[in-house]
Amino acid sequence: MASIDHTHDPSLQSWVQSANDPISDFPIQNLPFGVFLNTEGQRHIGVAIGDQILDVHAAVEARALADLDAESACSLSATELNSFMGQGQATWKHVRASLSSLLSASHDPRPELLVPMEGTSMVLPAIIGDYTDFYASRHHATNLGKMFRPDGDALLPNYLHLPVGYHGRASSIVVSETPIRRPQGQLKPEDGPPTFGSCRLLDYELEFAAFVGTGNAIGSPIEMPNAMDHIFGLVILNDWSARDIQKWEYQPLGPFNGKNFASSISPWVVTMEALAPYRKAGPRRQEGDPKVLSYLQPVTEDALDVTCEVWLRSHQMREKGIDAMRLSHGSLEDLTWTFAQMLTHHTSSGCPMRPGDLLGSGTVSGTTKDAWGSMLELAWRGTEPIDLPDGTQRKLLQDGDEVTIKAWCDSEGAARVGLGCCRGVILPALS
Ligand code: CA
Repeated sequence: MASIDHTHDPSLQSWVQSANDPISDFPIQNLPFGVFLNTEGQRHIGVAIGDQILDVHAAVEARALADLDAESACSLSATELNSFMGQGQATWKHVRASLSSLLSASHDPRPELLVPMEGTSMVLPAIIGDYTDFYASRHHATNLGKMFRPDGDALLPNYLHLPVGYHGRASSIVVSETPIRRPQGQLKPEDGPPTFGSCRLLDYELEFAAFVGTGNAIGSPIEMPNAMDHIFGLVILNDWSARDIQKWEYQPLGPFNGKNFASSISPWVVTMEALAPYRKAGPRRQEGDPKVLSYLQPVTEDALDVTCEVWLRSHQMREKGIDAMRLSHGSLEDLTWTFAQMLTHHTSSGCPMRPGDLLGSGTVSGTTKDAWGSMLELAWRGTEPIDLPDGTQRKLLQDGDEVTIKAWCDSEGAARVGLGCCRGVILPALS
């Protein structure tokens, strides 16, 4: 199991000076993995450190990483992280220690192995074979239940018994900074027949996603005691949603084209090792909630204490030099189901997972309005529009809007560990 060791020591400093800034997302205690394009346009695995990227491929070639076995050297020289993700905890821990040693202030500086983050393009960190999106925040599920089923129970009968999810599309997952084209689709006006046209009700969803590390064979479920050990790391996910397309198409089989045009993820995968100081007992259940069945009972500390924020900046705000406006501030701890429970339930049928598969949390909403993770909720289905500092209002997203999600962990006694940000600008629909 991921555990706290010398690599988490909050007093540890790096020879990369920007990593020692107390508000850096990427101090030496973090060491998240990503894939970047080098000056020749080749994909290299990198590790974020301060405002720099350690070129891991170059570090392997220069034999700068101590005690690396041939298999790890090969996986770290690949063009995506799948092979390294599949190697498992012992290797991840070992490589983390080597990276920490190479980047620590007590090591001779190796600036030739760095690439500045600014101006360097990131690509998807892994080949995502399969993507599943859950619905793990009861506050989000309750809000949507109240909006769309005002006469019934806000939560459906299965909600507190199992983590509800659907199989999404891996092919439309894009890395942060990729522009998002407003989709077209079939729309059903209240008072007329269906039409085909541009989505009018485009929304974001603040989510996190877990990259599966080691998978399981078909027919061999992953179980709660070691579920967290199968998870490689965490990214921010924005599950862009076309509410009008979704509303007409979703019955009876669930989300389809309203969700498959784009989902953005942050480029740096923050490992479960780095998050070890931020694991908590959980998830919280409320008084009167049914007991979860034994195969989903938490036995390790699986809840993650990660703070998250959504920021919006319209085209006009950017033109006028107005700063982005914060729409919400929440916590991953608000989830009703943990990633361990999602993974356990998902594989309980015998469904196999592979390294690089991605599990989305579902919209992370908290108890109070300032912690709701979608604009559908914040503007309460358009009935409470949001005032922007450029004088305009939003019920949902308009063309030119830029949505940025930021996330980090911070607590006394541990170094701040950031997930960076996940950003996208809305482009007009094709006409
Ligand atoms: Ca979602």
